[in-house]
Amino acid sequence: MTAQLIDGNALSRQLRADVSARVTALKARDITPGLAVILVGENPASQVYVRNKVKACEDTGMHSLLERWPATLSEAELLARVDALNRDATIHGILVQLPLPAHIDAQKVIEAISPAKDVDGFHIASAGALMTGMPGFWPCTPYGCMKMLESIGYELKGKHAVVIGRSNIVGKPMALMLLQQNATVTICHSGTQDLKALTLQADVIVAAVGKRNVLTADMVKPGAVVLDVGMNRNDEGKLCGDVDFDGVKEVAGWITPVPGGVGPMTITMLMVNTLESAEGLRAA
Ligand code: NAP
Repeated sequence: MTAQLIDGNALSRQLRADVSARVTALKARDITPGLAVILVGENPASQVYVRNKVKACEDTGMHSLLERWPATLSEAELLARVDALNRDATIHGILVQLPLPAHIDAQKVIEAISPAKDVDGFHIASAGALMTGMPGFWPCTPYGCMKMLESIGYELKGKHAVVIGRSNIVGKPMALMLLQQNATVTICHSGTQDLKALTLQADVIVAAVGKRNVLTADMVKPGAVVLDVGMNRNDEGKLCGDVDFDGVKEVAGWITPVPGGVGPMTITMLMVNTLESAEGLRAA
């Protein structure tokens, strides 16, 4: 069996077209959704991510404000910038690109962002809102995974979902979103014994580890949906996920590729969150 591909680029195009149309409608009411992105230091991967986010704003007609600061920026100076952006009426979403330099407490900075502008969904108020089923911003990567499941009309009720990874930005919120849709959820991590025994029971597997070949064909139930969040480099230096794509696609029913899967969806959901912040729809 060869799995059907869930194409994150194609789905992103569709969703971004909808975002653009809603941005146009807001502009007619003199509101331009605005995203502020703060980059501290010269991390090359962060520079690429930030550039892609700014471009996505431009493509969808949103206002973006990119602040680049040297790695020597103090924590107090960064907190002052966040405070100013919290009070800036032209800005509906604030994103501080991680990782931050070691002398800055990232959690403190995230907590300084107004929950009403927390379009990354990392603030403790956003996490609490997700956990309790209240309105709030959902972290973009797992939110994108949920949109991918929705796009194939997948009914999660009663299904067994296995999430591999328990980070605050991917694994844990992913598990909560799946639970909210009435899946039975198992969360795996580095201390899990016999990962394969669990993944073999899964109707849906989300791999969010950051290690190549964490999921191989012998670990997947025929027909399962496999979402690959991982971003790694193979021996040739090419981008690859956590899933052994060539093997698993012969067993799974649906699978996301890397690149072109979850990655583009993450930025798309950032656009959705920023738009919905401007529309006043999602704030915690
Ligand atoms: P993270 O904070 O490093 O978390 C990794 C998780 O994997 C941890 O919970 C860890 O367990 C678990 N783990 C490690 N080895 C394991 C193993 N052998 N078996 C089972 N679980 C294991 O990473 P993250 O931020 O969640 O990101 C995960 C991956 O997704 C990375 O490759 C990252 O680059 C990628 N990512 C992609 C996007 C995108 O847009 N596509 C967005 C965000 C992240 P412990 O908790 O026990 O240590």
